[in-house]
Amino acid sequence: MIDYNQIAQKYGTPLYLYDFDHFTAQYEKLKDAFRARKSILAYAVKASSNLSIIKHFASLGAGADCVSIGEVRRALLAGVPKYKIIFSGVGKRDDEIAEAICSDILYINVESSAELDRIELIAKRVDRSVRISIRVNPNIDPKTHPYISTGLHSNKFGVDLDSAKRMYIQANSSQHLEPVGIHFHIGSQLTELEPIRDSAIIVADLVRSLRSAIGLELKFFDVGGGLGVQYSDEKIIDPVEYAQAILSTLSGLDLTIICEPGRFLSANAGYFLTRVLYEKSNSDKRFIIVDGAMNDLLRPSLYGAYHSITHFKEADEKVGVADVVGPVCESGDFLAKDIELPYFQHNDLILINSAGAYGFGMSSNYNTRNRCAEVAISHGRDRLIRRRESFDDQIALEREFIS
Ligand SMILES: *Cc1c(COP(=O)(O)O)cnc(C)c1O
Repeated sequence: MIDYNQIAQKYGTPLYLYDFDHFTAQYEKLKDAFRARKSILAYAVKASSNLSIIKHFASLGAGADCVSIGEVRRALLAGVPKYKIIFSGVGKRDDEIAEAICSDILYINVESSAELDRIELIAKRVDRSVRISIRVNPNIDPKTHPYISTGLHSNKFGVDLDSAKRMYIQANSSQHLEPVGIHFHIGSQLTELEPIRDSAIIVADLVRSLRSAIGLELKFFDVGGGLGVQYSDEKIIDPVEYAQAILSTLSGLDLTIICEPGRFLSANAGYFLTRVLYEKSNSDKRFIIVDGAMNDLLRPSLYGAYHSITHFKEADEKVGVADVVGPVCESGDFLAKDIELPYFQHNDLILINSAGAYGFGMSSNYNTRNRCAEVAISHGRDRLIRRRESFDDQIALEREFIS
């Protein structure tokens, strides 16, 4: 049992906490589900990008899926082998492409025909050959929140099947491009298997047709991430069924699976710990004002995301429905809405669950608030993995103003 009072006293609030043993359990579960084939689980670094977290996954054998050169640098610094690092993302700058090529990572996921041209040009300029994979947009509705859907033609990600074919033909005949993989990632927080299976079928068929049409032998079948987790009572996909659904589409193909889980590995391992400042009510509403806010945990404000709450009051003390809100000057600043909670006193602790993915990483200094500290818990011991920011940290990059 974690002693949240002691942790809060030691590190202050608001605070992010991560259960590293849960990271391990999730990694092993998914890795094991793919055991019938060679696979690399490339942790999607953006989900929670603290170096200690990346290092922990690397120690288990994970690779890293990165969406900026900063994330590639994080992965390398944390000890992820370069041959397990993937660079994805719809808009890569020239300098990012050049650095990725020179870092000799596993491959770059290409998201448009124009980007392929650019990568070819830059590879030529630095006189290298670069491994690439093409992100196919299979035009499948992933049935998730529209902000986290990525596999429809109305989303900005990837290329359609015909463009992908043309791009593979171009890459296959280029001296500077080495097409080694194919990629799809249709969305996040996926809770239905069907869209994933349908996408895998479409993409596996493309692999077959590329083989027969231009003799291209790809090595990596990159199924993206997106596996959903339980925030409340949603039904989630069983990792074994997930892996089976994908593997069943690959008969006759000798491919290594690359899977890029972010949320699945990290969401339920993370907690956001905050203290109650005040309660206040008017004729319509009851508000519980806490010291954590949307700048610390944006998901409720951004997506209307639900996070369950644990409190430390007697279980039968429920006094009614309330919103949990922060001090930030936005009406959209809330951590929970219309939930049943007991009456709180000043300094009582509230724990926001499942905050390990897209939590700290989306935090900002809005309202000149210092970003939180991050603490790891492993085998019952706690350890600071990022200290709380200070006011001086925040203003360090600003220059004397010119009037
Ligand atoms: C965000 C992202 C992931 C991880 O998504 P999760 O839903 O967190 O698993 C994987 N691959 C790519 C390309 C991404 O952009």
